[in-house]
Amino acid sequence: MKGQTERRLWNEKIETMSRDELRELQWRRLKRQVAYNYERSLFYRKKFEQVGMRPEDIRSFEDFQQLPLMTKDEHRRAQEESIQTLGHPYGPMTITCAPIEKIVRVNATSGTTGVPTLYTLTQHDVNVVNEMHARKYWRAGIRPGHVMIQALSLSMFTGGLPLSQGIQHLGACVVPVGIEGGTKRVLDFIRLTAPVAIIATPSFGLYLIEQCPKLTGKDAKELGLKWFFCAGEPGGGNPEVRKLLAEGFGAKIFDHTGGGHAFHGISCDEPPESYSGMHFVSEDHCLMELVDPETKKSIEIENGAVGELVLTFLDWEGGPFMRYAYGDIVQVFTAPCECGMPGIRFKIIGRADDMLIVKGVNVYPEAIKAAILQFRPKVTGFFRIVLNKPGPLVTPPLRIKLEYASSVRDGEIPSLEEQMVKHFKENLRISPKFIWVKEGSIPREMKKTKFIEIDKGEQ
Ligand SMILES: [Zn+2]
Repeated sequence: MKGQTERRLWNEKIETMSRDELRELQWRRLKRQVAYNYERSLFYRKKFEQVGMRPEDIRSFEDFQQLPLMTKDEHRRAQEESIQTLGHPYGPMTITCAPIEKIVRVNATSGTTGVPTLYTLTQHDVNVVNEMHARKYWRAGIRPGHVMIQALSLSMFTGGLPLSQGIQHLGACVVPVGIEGGTKRVLDFIRLTAPVAIIATPSFGLYLIEQCPKLTGKDAKELGLKWFFCAGEPGGGNPEVRKLLAEGFGAKIFDHTGGGHAFHGISCDEPPESYSGMHFVSEDHCLMELVDPETKKSIEIENGAVGELVLTFLDWEGGPFMRYAYGDIVQVFTAPCECGMPGIRFKIIGRADDMLIVKGVNVYPEAIKAAILQFRPKVTGFFRIVLNKPGPLVTPPLRIKLEYASSVRDGEIPSLEEQMVKHFKENLRISPKFIWVKEGSIPREMKKTKFIEIDKGEQ
């Protein structure tokens, strides 16, 4: 059967646009969007006033970059002020630009750092989100007839409902079981509904591989899952984690991002031991900028560039982001990808808040983790960065406490350390000091692990 299901991309017209065409489309939409934001949101109007600009003063992308950035904290504060003053968070004191009659959905970030930040969507925005999910899963090979089990948090958080709706929009079948009901329930529904794909956090995937034989008497490979879509954590970009998932499930591993908003990406079909970032699939609805995480100065987007991610939604009605500095540090690749799929790519390197600076070199705990995992099974992969005061500035050398595996003899440690220091020098441009501890010495945490330990006594 040729036709619909044979095409490679969900939206060929948009997804194969040249850079120039795309830039032109972004520019047209940006001009309209900034005028809309200025008109309808006092929060955004203040941003213009801070630099003495009006929407008509923006005649180029460079002009646009003169507008101040916004942060999650500001977003939360504006929400709170609005609730206290007006009794609701729906504008005009916040970034919500559409009237309440047009808002059909509120999504939120999970708020791990405190109060959730709210995303407000009109039906138009919901359609945009659905389109982006369809673009991602279509690239990965999902088609009508495929059943996908959704084992992320099912709540209003951005991965929950929006993602499920997006799968329906593509015409595939979603089983939104969620993880709230526990591992056994996910396994029960895998048996009952025969999915070929699962969407989950990488850590839940690893847990499922371990628990599956105990709970079902079967290996995770026998579940019939051919696709594993990682979300919600950075692990989906880690070659070691990808390999474990691929082997454990006998599935292709895709890393993807994007919830109930306009920033979406998915990695390509590649062997688990390599990872070349996520293809940015929503550039027609989202302008990406990079800034220096310290000085906040713009960094040009070119192959290999690293910086803090700044997002502006284009053609968004509810609560459009405008120069929103989200706190993620990304590396961008503009060179064509080996997979042949179009679009620039980005790799999430870490959080700006976690950044450490060692002799002028920016280092992220996630990057340290990835480097350590390269040396499994000689190391367990559990580690802590030991600082004598909170970062980002670190007096060298950077101290890393890590576990050697119980199979490693004391005499082998010096040569292991030598190899590791070399790897760190070449890949991260730092020469750490390793503090070796026995397997099992570092506390295991199920939640997002804190990699940094403050030890005032040493140094
Ligand atoms: Zn690719």
